[in-house]
Amino acid sequence: MRAEVISIGDELTSGQRLDTNSQWLSQQLGDLGIRVLYHTTVADDLDANVQVFRNAILRADVVVATGGLGPTADDLTRQALAQATDRELQLDADSLAHIENLFRRRMRAMPPANQVQAYFPQGSQPIPNQEGTAPGIYLRIPRPDKPDAHCFALPGVPGEMRVLWRESVRPTLQKEMGLLGKRIRHRVIHTFGAGESEVERMLPGLITRGRVPQVGITASKATISLRITAMAGSEQDCEALIAPTAEMIYEKLGNLIFGEGEIELEQVLLHRLGDRNETLYVQEAQTAGLVSHWFARTSAGAFLGASIRVSPAAERLENGPAVARPIADLISQAVEDARRLQSEQATDWALVIGWLGSAPHGVDEPAGPPRFPVAACWHGQCHSTSFAYNGHPDLLLIRAAKQAVNWLRLLIEDVSERE
Ligand code: AMP
Ligand code: MG
Repeated sequence: MRAEVISIGDELTSGQRLDTNSQWLSQQLGDLGIRVLYHTTVADDLDANVQVFRNAILRADVVVATGGLGPTADDLTRQALAQATDRELQLDADSLAHIENLFRRRMRAMPPANQVQAYFPQGSQPIPNQEGTAPGIYLRIPRPDKPDAHCFALPGVPGEMRVLWRESVRPTLQKEMGLLGKRIRHRVIHTFGAGESEVERMLPGLITRGRVPQVGITASKATISLRITAMAGSEQDCEALIAPTAEMIYEKLGNLIFGEGEIELEQVLLHRLGDRNETLYVQEAQTAGLVSHWFARTSAGAFLGASIRVSPAAERLENGPAVARPIADLISQAVEDARRLQSEQATDWALVIGWLGSAPHGVDEPAGPPRFPVAACWHGQCHSTSFAYNGHPDLLLIRAAKQAVNWLRLLIEDVSERE
């Protein structure tokens, strides 16, 4: 069973407005176990819309379109759907009464243009819209050699679209597509520290289409997540399908995994410190306050505060010309700072993220990417490391900040295990 989502409007194809309806509808269809194979976005142009609907009806069993149902001349969805399926538009008396009534309640005369909203392609079912004037359209379209296509046209206004989906489209699909009594469950496992392909390589054969349960892999802001999806008659049956796969993922990925569901790396770390009744102070340079920002917005008592170093210029002046300092020196400096801050700030942990330094290299050996030092002290016991600072500019800062946070997370785990 495959679906196509169609978004209609000049404001979308011109880039003035972001198409959020497709994202929302695709998640909803996915939750029903219906795979969305196509997203199509089309301008307010009759011929283009007719073409888009013709294509969609041929290649998708479920078509959900939004937009173009308003009363104005650029709202063409009802005509396009009628033309694409060779049907006439017919007046629906109930819909007209609803629209007239709506204007009466607002104490306004109904503009003649609004009458078009009561016209529907022959054989379709109006989808009542209590939220606005434009009713939706449900059209079941017979196809040669294939089961009927189910086509829904909904208003573009996101709030109205969602109500019509929940009240009419979803129950209709569940009934018509034999999905009643089916449940879908997802479990999302987040990892940090290995690339997408590396994670895939550690889980041979797992991320294949058609596997039950299905496992998908996505990368977002340097976090790699695995999403396990199962469909069964009950939630318990779904969980039972998912459990052995999740277990296998835990076994293979070990402490690359930091959490599940709606959770971020920094939240895991602060919650862990909270469990241990410990506190943390941060000093950061290269990561520009990002780690402190993450910790500060995760309102958890473990984070005591931070100092952010804004520019290495002062240090550079003191130390002569702006030559990158060797990373080994910067690591020692970070450890010293962490040791001092931990005692000065009277915390259990101090984390220091320093400035970029140069990687060690030999005479004929090319220099590697610059590195930044990270150090942490826990009651006078100090640890340190450095990470390469390279990759795509959009992700540099986020990855560096996550590297530091993840390193500290693992260090805390280590300390906990040794206790
Ligand atoms: P329409 O039903 O085409 O008159 O659309 C009404 C309004 O809904 C538009 O002006 C947009 O602001 C909004 N809208 C339409 N389509 C979308 C979409 N795909 N995503 C987000 N907003 C939309
Ligand atoms: Mg429009």
